[in-house]
Amino acid sequence: MTMTNTPKIDILSLSLEELEDEIIRLGEPKFRAKQIYSWITKGCFGSEMRNIPVALQNKLNEVFEFRLPKVNKKLSSQLDGTIKYLFELIDGECIESVFMKYEHGNTLCISSQVGCRMGCKFCASTLAGRVRNLEPSEMLGQIIAATKDTGERISNVVMMGIGEPLDNYDNTIKFLRLVSSENGLNIGLRHISLSTCGLVDKIDRLSKEHLPVTLSVSLHAYDNQVRSGIMPVNNKFPIELLLGACNRYFEETGRRISFEYTLIAGKNDTVEGAIALAKLLKKYIKGSCHVNLIPLNEVKETRLETSKNVNNFKNKLISLGINATVRRKLGSDINASCGQLRRQSKEETQ
Ligand code: SAH
Repeated sequence: MTMTNTPKIDILSLSLEELEDEIIRLGEPKFRAKQIYSWITKGCFGSEMRNIPVALQNKLNEVFEFRLPKVNKKLSSQLDGTIKYLFELIDGECIESVFMKYEHGNTLCISSQVGCRMGCKFCASTLAGRVRNLEPSEMLGQIIAATKDTGERISNVVMMGIGEPLDNYDNTIKFLRLVSSENGLNIGLRHISLSTCGLVDKIDRLSKEHLPVTLSVSLHAYDNQVRSGIMPVNNKFPIELLLGACNRYFEETGRRISFEYTLIAGKNDTVEGAIALAKLLKKYIKGSCHVNLIPLNEVKETRLETSKNVNNFKNKLISLGINATVRRKLGSDINASCGQLRRQSKEETQ
């Protein structure tokens, strides 16, 4: 049998059960799948798989491709141990991940697409549009590669890097099942946050998947006029529809929604804005919610500026009974807000 025209199978995108089927199809004993699975989820393939006979290693090399991202660039903070990775994928495209140390464990912020097509006006990742979706293996691979590089266990994952995870829905769902599998990395879904700009139809689908991840919704505005001005997705899914989907997500999963609110000078950061936001959330959100305030990371192409009113905004929300915190800034000495490292590297190679 010749393999030359058969595309290779992306092994890290397979569940253990799917890998077992492939291994049996190759005429190998089923128990090999578990051994191989244990290697690949540690970031090892080929001759690194020491208890796999060389003949089988070679066969695996012919049939499968191993899409583990490679470290292309790495910036380490001297202040708090944060590490920013520029990872290179199998086709040479690059994405970013950020490793952060928190008291509750190590967290990795991962990307879900190469670029993004959502068009948020303040975001560096969307400036050049979307190149392609990441495979489940490439999302998982960021965690495996960062674990291998740091030698530390990653216990929490946030899908807040480059891309819109719900715009890559099927691969994101497969990734969530793989990453939480007890045969694999075994990271509990309650330790995973998925951030979305607000694709209402996909939030509704997600709420039925029985995957109890924390949903973070990028709200960034207190009314439709402001939100449509900075987030084109709001023209399709205005705030009332979005908050309705958030309620349904809460009802289905019991998971409290977290809202992200990036404060941009002169756009959404006045005290009147905080009052309007509190009113909006009280009117539409059933149960409690949390607002995560993010001072804007300035991206030179957007000409938007960070707000000087962060604490006033936060205090106003709290005084009105809304649970709000300001996101702690990690790795400020290696600051390149998300998406900027990839842009810089593209500019350098062009
Ligand atoms: N596409 C998803 C996840 C990626 S961005 C989403 O929209 O939620 C993760 C968070 O960072 C989002 O809340 C996003 O709006 C915010 N963000 C993007 N660019 C930013 C910037 N320059 N400064 C501060 N926050 C930013």
